[in-house]
Amino acid sequence: MFFNPDFNRVKVFVVIIATILIAMMCSKAFAQMPPARYDHKFPGNLTVLRLDRVETVKRCGSTPSLFRIVFGCALVMTKTRCVVVVSDASWHPEVTLRHEIAHCNGWPRDHPP
Ligand SMILES: [Zn+2]
Repeated sequence: MFFNPDFNRVKVFVVIIATILIAMMCSKAFAQMPPARYDHKFPGNLTVLRLDRVETVKRCGSTPSLFRIVFGCALVMTKTRCVVVVSDASWHPEVTLRHEIAHCNGWPRDHPP
């Protein structure tokens, strides 16, 4: 049974999936730190909403998928007012918060360096 070729195929599959998951967890997309010039306190009125996964998706208007978990978003962005959502599902809420505050500070949505 142990050397059954089908079992080996399952092992290879599991290793591939595990590698993809680890790569995703380590990828910049999941914990992308903003460039230094946007990585500072928001100078205006900042509201931080900590919401559960479902409310985060509703507020952020995002479409989650198997490979995309919505960790947060920046909603209202003017020079004097910003509303940030941080999801309970965020693995690194402090990183998500810094990321979204950087959007409040003018970091474009496509995350240029
Ligand atoms: Zn972003």
